[in-house]
Amino acid sequence: MHKQTTSLLSPAVGTQRELVSFHFAPGSASTSAQSGSSASQKIYIQSSLHADETPAMLTAVLLKRRLLELEARGALAAEIVLVPVANPVGLGQYVVGQFVGRFDLASGRNFNRHFMQFPTLAERARDLLGADANRNRDIIRDLLREELAQQKPLTEFESLQLALFKHSFDADLVIDLHCSLEAVMHVYTTEAAWPSIEPLARYLGAEASLLATNSGAQAFDEAHSLIWWHLQQQMPASKPVPDGTLAVTVECRGQRDVSYEIAQQDADAIVDYLVSRGAIRGEPKGLPPLRMPATPLAGSEQFYAPVSGILVHRAKIGDTIRAGDALFDIVDPLTDETTTIRSNTDGVFYMRRAIRFVTAGAPLGRVTGTRAVRTGVLLGA
Ligand SMILES: [Zn+2]
Repeated sequence: MHKQTTSLLSPAVGTQRELVSFHFAPGSASTSAQSGSSASQKIYIQSSLHADETPAMLTAVLLKRRLLELEARGALAAEIVLVPVANPVGLGQYVVGQFVGRFDLASGRNFNRHFMQFPTLAERARDLLGADANRNRDIIRDLLREELAQQKPLTEFESLQLALFKHSFDADLVIDLHCSLEAVMHVYTTEAAWPSIEPLARYLGAEASLLATNSGAQAFDEAHSLIWWHLQQQMPASKPVPDGTLAVTVECRGQRDVSYEIAQQDADAIVDYLVSRGAIRGEPKGLPPLRMPATPLAGSEQFYAPVSGILVHRAKIGDTIRAGDALFDIVDPLTDETTTIRSNTDGVFYMRRAIRFVTAGAPLGRVTGTRAVRTGVLLGA
């Protein structure tokens, strides 16, 4: 393993942050015994891009320990890049005792939204691509590398997004470890990637798997998968474009779910998955059952407070919900009036906010649903 340090753009005289990445190399057995795509497999894993999502960071710490040991035994069959602190900018944002890790205080931007797009890529690729999908993948990655090399970030925020993307754009698999506020283990990926990601959801014990090709948020995972999806839509069948990068966001439960037991379980699940993909040598562990079938992200119901008041939860995280079940009460402390919010879908109550007093319009939580009902941007701010 070697440690790499990338300096971010200095936002002000006398300040300098850096992004630290750990690079694990495949053992020598793979280079001699294997050839082609399996030998060149690259895995990119980062945690806590939303800097205040600490469970993901502890998972990365324990994952690093396992990778060090696997590398020492020559058991790695892929290049693995691990970034346990994906957001040193957000990590420094303490405001009157509160940790603000989701949004950049300088710009108000969400750290996991609006990652870069490559609008001229298809035009540039069209003449270069041929009939060999594997060769086309390499050509597209070369074009991406060139485009990234030319980018000139203006702010520290942009330089962070660019530094992360430069580590990840040529990975075959991107795992972005986050957590929610109060939540069960759940994952986000695309319909196209789901057959390949499903074993990871099983090993992790995901209680919800939410699928969308394009949520409209241009989150880190989507910024990778959409590059290839857009090219697939635009290229003729004679120029096949593979699914260059499989990408998944893993929500490691809720923000306060920081424990060695849980983090070890999640790190082990990721290792089991990498073994099943051939990225780590070994006998794949038997696949546990999928706890809940995948559902469309557009089918999950999002609840908002119709009025302000004291929020009292009527359902527990992870509960199986039927349409009509009460999820939240909002109690007005002056009139004693109670407003009950009920689910309109059958599904799993997979996440809720950590607040207990709400303002009108505040988001409250989400329940999965099998029928796509929402349109537009599918992820919240
Ligand atoms: Zn997050």
